[in-house]
Amino acid sequence: MLHGFKAELRRLVIILLLCFGFGLLTHKLSWVLLLGISYYILTILYQMRRLNQWLLHSSHTEPPEAEGIWGEIFNNIHHLQRHQHDETKKLQAVIKRIQEISSALKDGIIILDWRGHLDFWNPAAHRLMGFHSKDQGQSVINFIRHPKFVSYFETGDYSAPLELPSPRHTTKQLQFQITRFGQKERLIVVRDVTQLHSLEQMRQDFIANVSHEMRTPLTVINGYVETLSDNNTIPAWTKPLQQMQQQAQRMTLLVNDLIMLSKLETTEIGHNQKLVLLEPLLISIKNEAEALGNDKNQTITLTCEESINIFGNEKELHSAFSNLTINAVKYTPANGKIDLRLWQDQQHIYFSVTDNGPGIDSKHIPRLTERFYRVDASRNSSTGGTGLGLAIVKHVLMRHDGELKISSEVDKGSVFTCVLPLTK
Ligand code: ADP
Repeated sequence: MLHGFKAELRRLVIILLLCFGFGLLTHKLSWVLLLGISYYILTILYQMRRLNQWLLHSSHTEPPEAEGIWGEIFNNIHHLQRHQHDETKKLQAVIKRIQEISSALKDGIIILDWRGHLDFWNPAAHRLMGFHSKDQGQSVINFIRHPKFVSYFETGDYSAPLELPSPRHTTKQLQFQITRFGQKERLIVVRDVTQLHSLEQMRQDFIANVSHEMRTPLTVINGYVETLSDNNTIPAWTKPLQQMQQQAQRMTLLVNDLIMLSKLETTEIGHNQKLVLLEPLLISIKNEAEALGNDKNQTITLTCEESINIFGNEKELHSAFSNLTINAVKYTPANGKIDLRLWQDQQHIYFSVTDNGPGIDSKHIPRLTERFYRVDASRNSSTGGTGLGLAIVKHVLMRHDGELKISSEVDKGSVFTCVLPLTK
């Protein structure tokens, strides 16, 4: 640039010197200078016109030939244009690649702008949701009107995905996972989980059917074993009959828990909900626990704020609270202490069961609510547990929008706390 600039400066100086010399010779210095400067300005205007013509009509071709600074200006502009062209090409290649990847995805990708309106979707989203190009800019709620989606979308808690029947094909089951990004934009990943859903449905139906089918034979076996035990006169049969009775009863408990669990999984909470006064419920659970732990001389106390009530299913709440209390009685040794407490704050109701039993190692705590998970298999068989109690508690609490919190220390005891939303 400096090189061209110097040459241009030199050209101007030469023109001025020539004009000066000629002006002195002809005694018309000002006229000659004016002529010289006009010539210089005209050459600049000419080059500017060439530049403009080139930019307007044929900037993709080679730049016009020029000397000095104008040659450099033309070349630099041309260089910049080529660079920009290369960059655009690269960007286009990246966009094309991203489009290819998003088209190859089996899962639907939907991008929403800050208002929740459709901005972009891939072919899988088109297949699953039936969006068309004319739908761009419309609110996603217009397409997925299911009340569960609307509340999932609006509450903004996207920590877990949501499963719904497809709004387009009723036989399909879709999973929606929303993620926030950029300036309040959202990305929805839509996954077809029909197969997984039907497998899960089959599992639930299988367990429900097997448990129901086992109920009648078990009742018959229990009845006969009891009659045989009562009328037994052969001493050698006493123990086997006793064991048969125990095991048949244990199996009945297991079947009942399985039936309860599959009901919790397969039915909506909608039915049988009412305002449940918790104090009488807990008094009856305390009485049941005292009767169960009669021979262990445990101290069971109940501290309860009066008139706390919750809108829910009384039978399910009874089952959850009683499972926790019975566990405390079962696992706490003789002369132990068990405290039942019910209280509330501005937002939640809390029910806790605290015992000074054997406690649970922290490594087991995250898995305790899994079905049949046992901290200690031998401890379990001696207490006659089914391994389903805490799974039932978890499901009941989930159905009431609550959660179970567990804290425990080995050899010190455990605290199981149910946290439920306050009924408005
Ligand atoms: P179970 O029928 O075996 O009691 P649960 O699902 O109710 O099944 O409990 C799962 C496991 O959690 C139990 O096997 C036991 O090891 C442990 N557990 C539950 N409650 C207590 C408690 N209060 N103290 C110590 N361990 C407990």
